[in-house]
Amino acid sequence: MDYIFYPNLKKEFPIIVKGEGIYLWDNKGKKYIDACSGALVSNIGHGVDEVIEAIYEQMKKVEFAHRFKFSNEKIIELSEKIIKISPKEISRVLFASGGSEAVETALKLAREYYVEKGKPTKYKVISRWQSYHGNTMGALSLSGNVARRVRYSPLLLDFPHAEPAYCYRCSFDKNPDECNLECAENIEKLVKREGPENIAAIIIEPIVGSTLGAAVPKDGYLQYIRELCDKYDILFIADEVMTGVGRTGKNFAVDHWKVIPDVICMAKGISGGYAPLGAVAIKESIYEVFKKGSGKFAHGYTFAGNPVSAAAGCAVIDYLNKNNLIEKCEKSGDLILNKLEILKEKYPFIGDVRGKGLMMGIEFVKNKRTKETFDPSLGLTERIVDKALEEGLMLYGAALCADGTKGDAVMVAPPLTVTEIEINEIIKILEKVIKDVFE
Ligand code: PMP
Repeated sequence: MDYIFYPNLKKEFPIIVKGEGIYLWDNKGKKYIDACSGALVSNIGHGVDEVIEAIYEQMKKVEFAHRFKFSNEKIIELSEKIIKISPKEISRVLFASGGSEAVETALKLAREYYVEKGKPTKYKVISRWQSYHGNTMGALSLSGNVARRVRYSPLLLDFPHAEPAYCYRCSFDKNPDECNLECAENIEKLVKREGPENIAAIIIEPIVGSTLGAAVPKDGYLQYIRELCDKYDILFIADEVMTGVGRTGKNFAVDHWKVIPDVICMAKGISGGYAPLGAVAIKESIYEVFKKGSGKFAHGYTFAGNPVSAAAGCAVIDYLNKNNLIEKCEKSGDLILNKLEILKEKYPFIGDVRGKGLMMGIEFVKNKRTKETFDPSLGLTERIVDKALEEGLMLYGAALCADGTKGDAVMVAPPLTVTEIEINEIIKILEKVIKDVFE
Protein backbone atom coordinates (compact mmCIF):
# COMPACT_ATOMS: atom_id res chain seq x y z
CA MET A 1 0.00 0.00 0.00
CA ASP A 2 1.33 3.39 -1.01
CA TYR A 3 -0.06 6.41 0.81
CA ILE A 4 1.56 9.08 -1.30
CA PHE A 5 -0.46 11.33 -3.61
CA TYR A 6 1.93 11.30 -6.58
CA PRO A 7 1.89 13.94 -9.34
CA ASN A 8 0.63 11.29 -11.76
CA LEU A 9 -1.67 8.81 -10.09
CA LYS A 10 -1.66 6.52 -13.12
CA LYS A 11 2.06 5.86 -13.05
CA GLU A 12 4.33 3.91 -10.82
CA PHE A 13 7.22 5.86 -9.29
CA PRO A 14 10.42 3.85 -8.78
CA ILE A 15 11.72 4.07 -5.22
CA ILE A 16 15.21 5.56 -5.21
CA VAL A 17 17.54 4.22 -2.55
CA LYS A 18 21.02 5.33 -3.57
CA GLY A 19 22.84 8.06 -5.47
CA GLU A 20 26.47 8.42 -6.47
CA GLY A 21 27.99 10.74 -9.07
CA ILE A 22 25.67 10.94 -12.06
CA TYR A 23 23.87 7.70 -11.11
CA LEU A 24 20.80 6.76 -9.07
CA TRP A 25 19.63 3.27 -8.08
CA ASP A 26 16.13 2.11 -7.19
CA ASN A 27 15.13 -0.51 -4.61
CA LYS A 28 15.03 -3.19 -7.32
CA GLY A 29 18.67 -2.59 -8.16
CA LYS A 30 18.01 -0.74 -11.41
CA LYS A 31 20.59 1.93 -12.25
CA TYR A 32 19.69 5.28 -13.86
CA ILE A 33 21.96 7.84 -15.47
CA ASP A 34 20.80 11.20 -14.18
CA ALA A 35 21.18 13.05 -17.47
CA CYS A 36 19.01 15.96 -16.28
CA SER A 37 20.28 16.37 -12.69
CA GLY A 38 16.76 15.62 -11.47
CA ALA A 39 15.36 18.91 -12.67
CA LEU A 40 18.70 20.69 -13.25
CA VAL A 41 19.25 20.54 -9.50
CA SER A 42 21.99 18.00 -8.76
CA ASN A 43 24.72 20.12 -10.34
CA ILE A 44 27.61 18.54 -8.44
CA GLY A 45 26.23 15.01 -8.65
CA HIS A 46 24.90 12.70 -5.96
CA GLY A 47 26.53 11.56 -2.74
CA VAL A 48 29.28 14.19 -2.42
CA ASP A 49 30.95 13.50 0.94
CA GLU A 50 32.15 17.07 1.51
CA VAL A 51 28.58 18.38 1.40
CA ILE A 52 27.18 15.57 3.54
CA GLU A 53 29.87 16.18 6.16
CA ALA A 54 29.29 19.95 6.14
CA ILE A 55 25.58 19.39 6.80
CA TYR A 56 26.35 16.91 9.58
CA GLU A 57 28.88 19.24 11.22
CA GLN A 58 26.34 22.07 11.21
CA MET A 59 23.60 19.80 12.56
CA LYS A 60 25.83 18.93 15.47
CA LYS A 61 26.29 22.63 16.32
CA VAL A 62 22.79 24.00 15.82
CA GLU A 63 20.03 22.96 13.42
CA PHE A 64 17.65 25.92 13.60
CA ALA A 65 17.33 29.40 15.05
CA HIS A 66 14.44 31.55 13.95
CA ARG A 67 15.35 34.38 11.57
CA PHE A 68 13.14 36.94 13.33
CA LYS A 69 15.55 36.94 16.25
CA PHE A 70 18.85 35.50 15.04
CA SER A 71 21.30 35.36 12.22
CA ASN A 72 23.78 32.46 12.08
CA GLU A 73 27.35 31.88 11.02
CA LYS A 74 26.60 29.73 8.00
CA ILE A 75 24.06 32.09 6.45
CA ILE A 76 26.55 34.94 6.74
CA GLU A 77 29.21 32.77 5.08
CA LEU A 78 26.79 31.76 2.33
CA SER A 79 25.80 35.39 1.66
CA GLU A 80 29.47 36.25 1.22
CA LYS A 81 29.97 33.36 -1.18
CA ILE A 82 26.90 34.30 -3.22
CA ILE A 83 28.00 37.92 -3.48
CA LYS A 84 31.45 36.79 -4.56
CA ILE A 85 30.07 34.84 -7.52
CA SER A 86 27.43 37.46 -8.42
CA PRO A 87 27.92 40.33 -10.88
CA LYS A 88 29.36 43.51 -9.39
CA GLU A 89 26.89 45.88 -7.67
CA ILE A 90 25.04 42.86 -6.22
CA SER A 91 25.78 43.07 -2.54
CA ARG A 92 22.87 41.82 -0.39
CA VAL A 93 21.04 38.49 -0.19
CA LEU A 94 17.62 37.31 0.99
CA PHE A 95 16.89 33.63 1.56
CA ALA A 96 14.14 31.16 0.73
CA SER A 97 13.65 27.41 0.63
CA GLY A 98 13.30 26.96 -3.11
CA GLY A 99 12.71 28.56 -6.49
CA SER A 100 9.05 29.56 -6.21
CA GLU A 101 9.70 31.11 -2.82
CA ALA A 102 12.66 33.02 -4.23
CA VAL A 103 10.48 34.37 -7.05
CA GLU A 104 7.71 35.37 -4.60
CA THR A 105 10.34 37.20 -2.59
CA ALA A 106 11.50 39.09 -5.67
CA LEU A 107 7.91 40.01 -6.55
CA LYS A 108 7.13 41.39 -3.13
CA LEU A 109 10.49 43.11 -2.90
CA ALA A 110 9.81 44.92 -6.20
CA ARG A 111 6.42 46.14 -4.97
CA GLU A 112 7.71 47.29 -1.61
CA TYR A 113 10.73 48.95 -3.20
CA TYR A 114 8.48 51.35 -5.07
CA VAL A 115 6.28 51.91 -2.02
CA GLU A 116 9.46 52.86 -0.15
CA LYS A 117 10.42 55.15 -3.03
CA GLY A 118 7.03 56.88 -2.87
CA LYS A 119 5.87 55.44 -6.20
CA PRO A 120 3.12 53.05 -5.07
CA THR A 121 1.44 52.89 -8.49
CA LYS A 122 4.45 50.95 -9.77
CA TYR A 123 3.29 47.48 -8.79
CA LYS A 124 2.80 45.43 -11.97
CA VAL A 125 5.40 42.90 -13.00
CA ILE A 126 5.85 42.00 -16.66
CA SER A 127 6.78 38.48 -17.64
CA ARG A 128 6.66 36.55 -20.90
CA TRP A 129 4.58 33.80 -22.40
CA GLN A 130 6.21 30.37 -22.26
CA SER A 131 8.21 31.27 -19.18
CA TYR A 132 8.19 29.34 -15.92
CA HIS A 133 8.69 31.03 -12.58
CA GLY A 134 7.24 28.56 -10.11
CA ASN A 135 4.16 26.82 -8.82
CA THR A 136 2.86 29.00 -5.97
CA MET A 137 -0.13 31.08 -7.10
CA GLY A 138 1.93 34.27 -7.43
CA ALA A 139 4.79 32.67 -9.33
CA LEU A 140 2.40 30.63 -11.48
CA SER A 141 0.35 33.72 -12.35
CA LEU A 142 3.60 35.28 -13.44
CA SER A 143 4.55 32.22 -15.48
CA GLY A 144 3.57 32.01 -19.11
CA ASN A 145 3.48 28.24 -19.12
CA VAL A 146 0.02 27.69 -20.53
CA ALA A 147 -0.03 23.96 -19.84
CA ARG A 148 0.58 24.56 -16.14
CA ARG A 149 -1.71 27.60 -15.85
CA VAL A 150 -4.76 26.12 -17.49
CA ARG A 151 -6.22 24.26 -14.52
CA TYR A 152 -5.85 27.17 -12.08
CA SER A 153 -7.55 29.93 -13.96
CA PRO A 154 -8.44 32.64 -13.06
CA LEU A 155 -4.95 33.40 -11.86
CA LEU A 156 -3.80 36.50 -10.01
CA LEU A 157 -4.09 39.77 -11.88
CA ASP A 158 -1.60 42.43 -12.90
CA PHE A 159 1.04 40.30 -14.55
CA PRO A 160 1.08 41.44 -18.19
CA HIS A 161 2.77 38.92 -20.50
CA ALA A 162 5.00 39.77 -23.46
CA GLU A 163 6.20 37.53 -26.30
CA PRO A 164 9.14 35.22 -25.53
CA ALA A 165 12.63 35.27 -27.05
CA TYR A 166 12.20 31.93 -28.80
CA CYS A 167 14.34 32.15 -31.92
CA TYR A 168 13.40 28.74 -33.33
CA ARG A 169 9.72 29.75 -33.41
CA CYS A 170 9.85 33.52 -33.49
CA SER A 171 6.51 35.18 -32.64
CA PHE A 172 7.34 37.79 -35.30
CA ASP A 173 8.30 35.30 -38.04
CA LYS A 174 11.86 36.60 -38.10
CA ASN A 175 15.09 34.78 -38.65
CA PRO A 176 17.52 35.53 -35.79
CA ASP A 177 20.23 36.49 -38.33
CA GLU A 178 18.19 39.37 -39.60
CA CYS A 179 15.83 40.32 -36.80
CA ASN A 180 15.80 43.63 -34.95
CA LEU A 181 15.06 42.10 -31.54
CA GLU A 182 11.34 42.49 -32.15
CA CYS A 183 10.76 40.31 -29.07
CA ALA A 184 12.57 42.86 -26.90
CA GLU A 185 10.73 45.73 -28.60
CA ASN A 186 7.52 43.86 -27.80
CA ILE A 187 8.32 44.17 -24.09
CA GLU A 188 8.93 47.90 -24.50
CA LYS A 189 5.57 48.25 -26.27
CA LEU A 190 3.91 46.43 -23.37
CA VAL A 191 5.62 48.77 -20.88
CA LYS A 192 4.26 51.76 -22.79
CA ARG A 193 0.79 50.24 -23.09
CA GLU A 194 0.58 49.51 -19.37
CA GLY A 195 2.27 52.83 -18.50
CA PRO A 196 5.80 52.79 -17.06
CA GLU A 197 4.41 54.54 -13.97
CA ASN A 198 2.58 51.26 -13.22
CA ILE A 199 5.46 48.82 -13.80
CA ALA A 200 7.66 47.69 -10.93
CA ALA A 201 9.67 44.97 -12.63
CA ILE A 202 10.32 42.80 -15.66
CA ILE A 203 11.18 39.19 -14.89
CA ILE A 204 13.16 37.10 -17.37
CA GLU A 205 14.66 33.64 -17.42
CA PRO A 206 17.88 34.50 -19.28
CA ILE A 207 17.72 31.07 -20.92
CA VAL A 208 14.20 29.65 -20.88
CA GLY A 209 14.33 26.23 -19.29
CA SER A 210 11.41 24.08 -18.30
CA THR A 211 8.89 25.50 -20.77
CA LEU A 212 10.98 25.98 -23.90
CA GLY A 213 13.84 23.53 -23.36
CA ALA A 214 16.92 25.77 -23.17
CA ALA A 215 15.92 28.60 -25.51
CA VAL A 216 18.83 31.05 -25.71
CA PRO A 217 18.05 34.68 -26.63
CA LYS A 218 19.86 36.48 -29.40
CA ASP A 219 22.87 38.58 -28.39
CA GLY A 220 21.70 42.05 -27.46
CA TYR A 221 18.34 40.91 -26.07
CA LEU A 222 19.23 41.07 -22.39
CA GLN A 223 21.16 44.32 -22.92
CA TYR A 224 17.98 45.76 -24.46
CA ILE A 225 15.97 44.74 -21.39
CA ARG A 226 18.63 46.26 -19.12
CA GLU A 227 18.45 49.59 -20.99
CA LEU A 228 14.67 49.47 -21.03
CA CYS A 229 14.58 49.03 -17.26
CA ASP A 230 17.04 51.90 -16.75
CA LYS A 231 15.04 54.17 -19.04
CA TYR A 232 11.73 53.68 -17.22
CA ASP A 233 12.95 53.07 -13.65
CA ILE A 234 11.90 49.41 -13.64
CA LEU A 235 13.65 46.59 -11.77
CA PHE A 236 15.20 43.86 -13.90
CA ILE A 237 14.66 40.50 -12.16
CA ALA A 238 16.67 37.62 -13.60
CA ASP A 239 15.05 34.31 -12.69
CA GLU A 240 18.16 32.14 -12.53
CA VAL A 241 16.53 29.43 -10.44
CA MET A 242 17.47 26.92 -13.13
CA THR A 243 20.41 28.62 -14.85
CA GLY A 244 22.18 30.06 -11.81
CA VAL A 245 25.32 28.90 -10.04
CA GLY A 246 27.20 27.26 -12.86
CA ARG A 247 24.67 25.37 -14.94
CA THR A 248 25.33 27.26 -18.18
CA GLY A 249 29.11 27.43 -17.86
CA LYS A 250 29.18 30.79 -16.05
CA ASN A 251 28.24 31.65 -12.48
CA PHE A 252 25.01 33.14 -13.81
CA ALA A 253 23.55 32.98 -17.31
CA VAL A 254 23.43 36.79 -17.51
CA ASP A 255 27.25 36.71 -17.33
CA HIS A 256 27.32 35.39 -20.91
CA TRP A 257 26.12 38.83 -21.98
CA LYS A 258 27.74 40.84 -19.16
CA VAL A 259 24.35 42.14 -18.11
CA ILE A 260 23.78 43.07 -14.48
CA PRO A 261 20.19 42.64 -13.33
CA ASP A 262 18.88 44.40 -10.20
CA VAL A 263 17.64 41.16 -8.66
CA ILE A 264 18.78 37.56 -9.22
CA CYS A 265 16.70 34.58 -8.06
CA MET A 266 18.54 31.30 -7.59
CA ALA A 267 17.74 27.94 -6.00
CA LYS A 268 18.47 24.68 -7.78
CA GLY A 269 22.19 25.07 -8.44
CA ILE A 270 22.95 26.58 -5.08
CA SER A 271 21.33 23.73 -3.18
CA GLY A 272 22.73 21.07 -5.49
CA GLY A 273 19.82 18.98 -4.20
CA TYR A 274 21.37 18.63 -0.75
CA ALA A 275 18.91 20.84 1.14
CA PRO A 276 15.91 23.03 0.33
CA LEU A 277 17.46 26.39 -0.46
CA GLY A 278 16.77 29.48 -2.51
CA ALA A 279 18.23 32.97 -2.55
CA VAL A 280 17.55 36.39 -3.98
CA ALA A 281 20.60 38.56 -4.54
CA ILE A 282 20.05 42.29 -4.98
CA LYS A 283 21.91 45.46 -5.80
CA GLU A 284 23.11 47.73 -3.03
CA SER A 285 20.91 50.53 -4.42
CA ILE A 286 17.75 48.53 -3.60
CA TYR A 287 18.97 47.77 -0.12
CA GLU A 288 19.72 51.47 0.44
CA VAL A 289 16.13 52.45 -0.37
CA PHE A 290 14.82 50.09 2.33
CA LYS A 291 17.50 51.10 4.80
CA LYS A 292 16.83 54.82 4.39
CA GLY A 293 13.07 54.23 4.28
CA SER A 294 11.07 52.18 6.75
CA GLY A 295 13.98 49.81 7.39
CA LYS A 296 11.55 46.89 7.16
CA PHE A 297 10.94 43.99 4.81
CA ALA A 298 8.60 41.73 6.69
CA HIS A 299 8.18 39.14 3.93
CA GLY A 300 9.93 35.81 4.63
CA TYR A 301 9.61 32.15 5.41
CA THR A 302 10.11 30.14 8.60
CA PHE A 303 12.85 27.95 7.15
CA ALA A 304 14.59 30.66 5.12
CA GLY A 305 18.20 31.10 6.08
CA ASN A 306 18.34 28.05 8.33
CA PRO A 307 21.94 27.08 9.12
CA VAL A 308 21.68 23.53 7.76
CA SER A 309 20.59 24.58 4.27
CA ALA A 310 23.20 27.32 4.42
CA ALA A 311 25.91 24.78 5.26
CA ALA A 312 24.85 22.77 2.23
CA GLY A 313 24.95 25.87 0.01
CA CYS A 314 28.43 26.84 1.22
CA ALA A 315 29.78 23.34 0.63
CA VAL A 316 28.21 23.18 -2.85
CA ILE A 317 29.84 26.46 -3.92
CA ASP A 318 33.19 25.33 -2.45
CA TYR A 319 32.96 22.04 -4.32
CA LEU A 320 32.16 23.78 -7.62
CA ASN A 321 35.16 26.07 -7.16
CA LYS A 322 37.61 23.48 -5.89
CA ASN A 323 36.93 21.20 -8.83
CA ASN A 324 36.69 23.92 -11.48
CA LEU A 325 33.29 22.55 -12.40
CA ILE A 326 31.93 25.70 -14.01
CA GLU A 327 34.84 25.84 -16.45
CA LYS A 328 34.52 22.12 -17.14
CA CYS A 329 30.80 22.59 -17.69
CA GLU A 330 31.40 24.87 -20.65
CA LYS A 331 33.67 22.25 -22.28
CA SER A 332 31.39 19.27 -21.57
CA GLY A 333 28.46 21.32 -22.85
CA ASP A 334 30.23 21.99 -26.15
CA LEU A 335 31.00 18.28 -26.46
CA ILE A 336 27.35 17.29 -25.94
CA LEU A 337 26.07 20.01 -28.23
CA ASN A 338 28.37 18.76 -31.04
CA LYS A 339 27.06 15.26 -30.56
CA LEU A 340 23.46 16.51 -30.59
CA GLU A 341 24.18 18.44 -33.80
CA ILE A 342 25.29 15.17 -35.38
CA LEU A 343 22.02 13.52 -34.31
CA LYS A 344 20.12 16.48 -35.73
CA GLU A 345 21.76 16.02 -39.14
CA LYS A 346 21.03 12.29 -39.02
CA TYR A 347 17.36 12.31 -38.05
CA PRO A 348 14.49 14.15 -39.77
CA PHE A 349 12.52 14.43 -36.53
CA ILE A 350 15.06 16.63 -34.73
CA GLY A 351 14.25 20.23 -35.60
CA ASP A 352 16.57 22.11 -33.29
CA VAL A 353 19.27 21.60 -30.71
CA ARG A 354 20.26 24.52 -28.49
CA GLY A 355 21.55 25.63 -25.14
CA LYS A 356 24.58 26.81 -23.24
CA GLY A 357 26.92 24.91 -20.94
CA LEU A 358 25.19 21.82 -19.60
CA MET A 359 21.66 23.06 -20.28
CA MET A 360 20.73 21.67 -23.66
CA GLY A 361 17.42 21.27 -25.44
CA ILE A 362 16.32 19.08 -28.34
CA GLU A 363 13.11 20.02 -30.14
CA PHE A 364 11.31 17.38 -32.18
CA VAL A 365 9.29 18.13 -35.31
CA LYS A 366 7.19 16.28 -37.84
CA ASN A 367 8.62 18.33 -40.68
CA LYS A 368 12.04 19.89 -40.44
CA ARG A 369 11.44 22.43 -43.20
CA THR A 370 8.05 23.71 -42.03
CA LYS A 371 8.77 23.02 -38.32
CA GLU A 372 5.33 21.41 -38.10
CA THR A 373 4.84 19.83 -34.70
CA PHE A 374 3.60 16.31 -34.04
CA ASP A 375 -0.02 15.75 -33.07
CA PRO A 376 -0.17 16.64 -29.37
CA SER A 377 -2.42 13.65 -28.68
CA LEU A 378 0.63 11.44 -29.32
CA GLY A 379 2.17 12.81 -26.11
CA LEU A 380 5.64 12.35 -27.58
CA THR A 381 7.61 14.27 -24.96
CA GLU A 382 6.20 12.07 -22.25
CA ARG A 383 6.82 8.96 -24.32
CA ILE A 384 10.47 9.91 -24.84
CA VAL A 385 10.98 10.61 -21.14
CA ASP A 386 9.23 7.36 -20.13
CA LYS A 387 11.10 5.26 -22.69
CA ALA A 388 14.39 6.80 -21.58
CA LEU A 389 13.62 5.96 -17.96
CA GLU A 390 12.89 2.38 -19.00
CA GLU A 391 16.36 2.35 -20.59
CA GLY A 392 17.88 3.78 -17.41
CA LEU A 393 18.30 7.37 -18.66
CA MET A 394 16.73 10.41 -17.00
CA LEU A 395 15.76 13.25 -19.35
CA TYR A 396 13.83 16.45 -18.60
CA GLY A 397 10.60 16.80 -20.58
CA ALA A 398 10.07 20.45 -21.47
CA ALA A 399 6.43 21.52 -21.25
CA LEU A 400 6.88 23.09 -24.64
CA CYS A 401 3.75 24.79 -25.81
CA ALA A 402 4.11 26.81 -28.96
CA ASP A 403 0.39 27.55 -28.76
CA GLY A 404 -0.25 26.20 -25.29
CA THR A 405 -0.71 22.60 -26.32
CA LYS A 406 1.75 21.68 -29.07
CA GLY A 407 5.44 20.94 -29.41
CA ASP A 408 7.87 18.38 -28.09
CA ALA A 409 11.25 18.96 -26.48
CA VAL A 410 13.53 17.44 -23.87
CA MET A 411 16.50 18.81 -22.02
CA VAL A 412 19.83 17.04 -21.51
CA ALA A 413 21.53 18.52 -18.45
CA PRO A 414 23.71 16.08 -16.50
CA PRO A 415 25.64 17.05 -13.36
CA LEU A 416 28.63 19.30 -14.05
CA THR A 417 30.90 16.44 -13.00
CA VAL A 418 29.96 14.40 -16.10
CA THR A 419 32.92 12.77 -17.88
CA GLU A 420 33.50 12.16 -21.59
CA ILE A 421 32.84 8.44 -21.15
CA GLU A 422 29.56 9.20 -19.40
CA ILE A 423 28.61 11.67 -22.13
CA ASN A 424 29.12 8.94 -24.74
CA GLU A 425 26.92 6.61 -22.70
CA ILE A 426 24.18 9.26 -22.47
CA ILE A 427 24.23 9.97 -26.21
CA LYS A 428 24.17 6.25 -27.05
CA ILE A 429 21.05 5.57 -24.98
CA LEU A 430 19.43 8.82 -26.10
CA GLU A 431 19.84 7.84 -29.75
CA LYS A 432 18.34 4.42 -29.13
CA VAL A 433 15.38 5.96 -27.29
CA ILE A 434 14.51 8.51 -29.96
CA LYS A 435 14.85 5.92 -32.71
CA ASP A 436 12.49 3.61 -30.80
CA VAL A 437 9.94 6.37 -30.30
CA PHE A 438 10.03 8.00 -33.76
CA GLU A 439 10.84 5.18 -36.17
N1 PMP B 1 11.93 29.53 -11.77
C1 PMP B 1 12.51 28.76 -12.71
C2 PMP B 1 13.23 29.41 -13.84
C3 PMP B 1 12.43 27.37 -12.61
O1 PMP B 1 13.00 26.61 -13.56
C4 PMP B 1 11.76 26.79 -11.51
C5 PMP B 1 11.66 25.28 -11.36
N2 PMP B 1 11.64 24.55 -12.52
C6 PMP B 1 11.18 27.63 -10.56
C7 PMP B 1 11.29 28.99 -10.72
C8 PMP B 1 10.45 27.08 -9.38
O2 PMP B 1 11.33 26.48 -8.50
P1 PMP B 1 10.82 25.45 -7.36
O3 PMP B 1 10.27 24.27 -8.10
O4 PMP B 1 12.05 25.15 -6.57
O5 PMP B 1 9.79 26.14 -6.57
